[in-house]
Amino acid sequence: MGSLEVERKTTGWAAQDPSGILSPYTYTLRSTGPEDVFVKVICCGICHTDIHQIKNDLGMSNYPMVPGHEVVGEVVEVGSGVTKFTAGDVVGVGCIVGCCGNCRPCKSDIEQYCNKKIWSYNDVYTDGKPTQGGFAGSMVVNQKFVVKIPDGMAAEQAAPLLCAGVTVYSPLNHFGLKSSGLRGGILGLGGVGHMGVKIAKAMGHHVTVISSSMKKKEEALDHLGADDYLVSSDSTRMQELVDSLDYIIDTIPVFHPLVPYLLSVES
Ligand SMILES: [Zn+2]
Ligand SMILES: [Zn+2]
Repeated sequence: MGSLEVERKTTGWAAQDPSGILSPYTYTLRSTGPEDVFVKVICCGICHTDIHQIKNDLGMSNYPMVPGHEVVGEVVEVGSGVTKFTAGDVVGVGCIVGCCGNCRPCKSDIEQYCNKKIWSYNDVYTDGKPTQGGFAGSMVVNQKFVVKIPDGMAAEQAAPLLCAGVTVYSPLNHFGLKSSGLRGGILGLGGVGHMGVKIAKAMGHHVTVISSSMKKKEEALDHLGADDYLVSSDSTRMQELVDSLDYIIDTIPVFHPLVPYLLSVES
């Protein structure tokens, strides 16, 4: 593809150390290879994992690091072998940008279980260079790890679907919980819980948000459209709801007992 496949520079917001401060950082993107899509970033969500990685909370951060794995952008050009996308398409990139392609998970479309999967940032690509994420002007990504964003969907609303959205959609899909009319519980109402309410409602479920206080009741019922709100310390209502739910998606990121909630799921 001649000049299309030249290396370009881009500038991102990089963590240089665990301080939590990001600063501009310019680096070279790899060439747009035959299977690659060159994406100009429109916006990028902030996932809590980005915060952990920036601050080296997981003890595995490499700097400089450009975070961002809920990326929405516009296709600027495509490699000669790209069939799924053309220039001008609005696309998304999530937390994985590569895999071995040969192992059982890769051949079963569950690349997330590939031992050689490559994370969107804080990893090393097949060319030996560090991967850098979506808090940047642009990215070059293999077409296999790029998805089309439907026409008419606002970029900033699509972005969080690429990690937080997938996190709740995946268990609903995996456990066969997509049919309309199910009664679901969403435990915790942070970024992922919020997605859980929206996605479960879109599937036609009756959704109960379970939280530790009344603080988020208005947000859950009036803003997000949940059907019911349960405070976990309200033992009377907890008792009333025993055996009342078909599933609970637990989005609480800290240690907590599970037994009180298991009682409310029909066995
Ligand atoms: Zn994430
Ligand atoms: Zn693999």
